[in-house]
Amino acid sequence: MTVTRFAPSPTGFLHLGHAFSALTAFCAAREAGGRFLLRIEDIDPVRCKPAYTQKMLEDLHWLGLTWEEPVRVQSAHMAEYAAALGHLRARGLIYPCFCTRREIGELAAPQENDDVGPIYPGTCRNLSESERAARVRTHPCVWRLDMARACAQAGELTWHDAARGEIRAAPARFGDVVLARKDVLTSYHLSVTVDDALQGVTLVTRGQDLFAATDIHRLLQALLDLPTPRYRHHPLLRDATGRRYAKRDKSLTLRALREAGKTPAEVRAMAGCDTISR
Ligand code: GLU
Repeated sequence: MTVTRFAPSPTGFLHLGHAFSALTAFCAAREAGGRFLLRIEDIDPVRCKPAYTQKMLEDLHWLGLTWEEPVRVQSAHMAEYAAALGHLRARGLIYPCFCTRREIGELAAPQENDDVGPIYPGTCRNLSESERAARVRTHPCVWRLDMARACAQAGELTWHDAARGEIRAAPARFGDVVLARKDVLTSYHLSVTVDDALQGVTLVTRGQDLFAATDIHRLLQALLDLPTPRYRHHPLLRDATGRRYAKRDKSLTLRALREAGKTPAEVRAMAGCDTISR
């Protein structure tokens, strides 16, 4: 049974790029006679607003999509992310990091490409257990994956991409990624991996911009004993000048298009994905 999902973050109105992504997941499920799920990725308490969640659901309904209830809302599942983190901690795979952004900026290895970002220099990895215990009580910290140890435990890993076939995962290039932030005890990487498993997702469809991150998710699956779905990374919709659609493109939000008189079928066609009407 194919199970897909659309997982937007409620940080603004849905735009044409989101519509394309949602329709890709919806159509993949429908074509396979499978199930389509929705997940609201709202772990960031500053950027995410409940009002946007409501508007997103309305826009998706207007577009003609239906999904299975209940909708999974990440902020209601913090205990599950904490449990996953606890599991990694018990295996000695995460450590608290007290570095400020500035300290990391000064020491981080230079970026080799946009996918990876600055590599954490590992300062806090070398603190002793007693230093850690003392500082955790008094200082805010993030929790980082000890990447070298994690890769050594997990061994060689692969995952399957619909367009590119078997991909050899190379998570080590990301360095010691953050798995729990200072303000919320989880991160995108941790919650997306846990949720795809708990929701029984078998085919993850999402934008090409997340292709590289899949290596990290594959590693977490191995460390947490979770199943590995298949992946389909779709191209990002771009405007006439080649820029990808984003929240700044106010005229291309589903809301604006609807107010401008477009029908759901027209918007589906604009997103290049009108098969749901057939
Ligand atoms: N919440 C992410 C976003 O809005 C998508 C995550 C995913 O599909 O894995 O970009």
